[in-house]
Amino acid sequence: MSLLEVSDLHVSVGEKSILNGLNLSVGEGEVHAIMGPNGSGKSTLSHVLAGRDGYEILNGQVSYNDLDLLTLEPDIRACEGVFLAFQYPVEIPGVPSGTFLKEAVNAVKKYNGEKEYDAIEFLALLKEACVKIGINYEMMRRALNVGFSGGEKKRNEVLQMALLNPKLTILDETDSGLDVDALKIVAEGINSLRTPKQSIILITHYQRMLEYIRPDYVHVLFNGVIARSGGMELVEILEKQGYAGLGIDTQAKN
Ligand code: ADP
Ligand code: MG
Repeated sequence: MSLLEVSDLHVSVGEKSILNGLNLSVGEGEVHAIMGPNGSGKSTLSHVLAGRDGYEILNGQVSYNDLDLLTLEPDIRACEGVFLAFQYPVEIPGVPSGTFLKEAVNAVKKYNGEKEYDAIEFLALLKEACVKIGINYEMMRRALNVGFSGGEKKRNEVLQMALLNPKLTILDETDSGLDVDALKIVAEGINSLRTPKQSIILITHYQRMLEYIRPDYVHVLFNGVIARSGGMELVEILEKQGYAGLGIDTQAKN
C-alpha cells in the first residue's frame, strides 16, 4: 500500500508556476531519492508536503496515510508523522535545543492521546538518542541551531527524526554544506533509523549520499514534473554525463 500518493500536483508562487502536474507514489518503508537541477521544484515539493504557506495549489491531490494531506494544518501533518528537515535549518535564539525537542515530541504524544514525557523521562530518551546519532549532549543546552556548524545542524535534524519517529521523512538537501566525514555520519544516522515502516524522500545532488543511503527509487525532477524514474543507474548516468545523459536539456528555459 502506498503511504504517499501525489497526483497531478500543480503549484504556483504568485504568477510563476513551479510544479506542473507532478505524480509520485511512495510506499511504506521505501526510500525515494529526488534529484534535479537547481530551480526544478524540489524544495517547493517538500514545502508543499509539509504545509508551508506561500504556495498556491492550483490542482491535484495528495493522499497520505488515507488522509487528504493538503487540507491539514502543518502542525497536524507533523503530528500525523510527516517530518521535513529543512534545507536551511531555522535558528531559534533563546530556546535550548533540548527544550525545543521535548515540546515537539510531547505535541505528538498529546495529539495521539498518549501521556507526555516529563523532564526526567525525556532527558533519558534524549541522551540515548544523542549517543546513537553521535551528538555531544552539551549541544542540547545551546539555542536551536544558533552558531551550529553545517554538520551540527544536520545531525540535529537526524536527532529530531530519531525522536519524532516520523512515518514520512523528507530530507531536503541534508547533505549540502557537509564535508565527506559529516556526510557519512549523517547518512549512517539516517540508515540506523530506517525501519520497514518508515518512508523517506531524500532530496540530494550528490551521488555519494546515495551510495551510503541506497534508495529504492531514484527520480529526476525537472520543470516541476518527475521527468525520469528508475534506480541507481540514473545516478550513475548523471554522474558521468550530467542531465544531458538523461536527455534533459537544463539550458532550455521554462
Ligand atoms: P529546487 O529546490 O529544485 O532548487 P525550488 O523549489 O526552490 O527549486 O524553486 C523552483 C522555482 O520556483 C525556482 O525558479 C524558484 O526561483 C522559484 N520559487 C521558489 N519559491 C519561490 C518564491 N517564494 N517566490 C518566487 N519564486 C519562487
Ligand atoms: Mg531546493
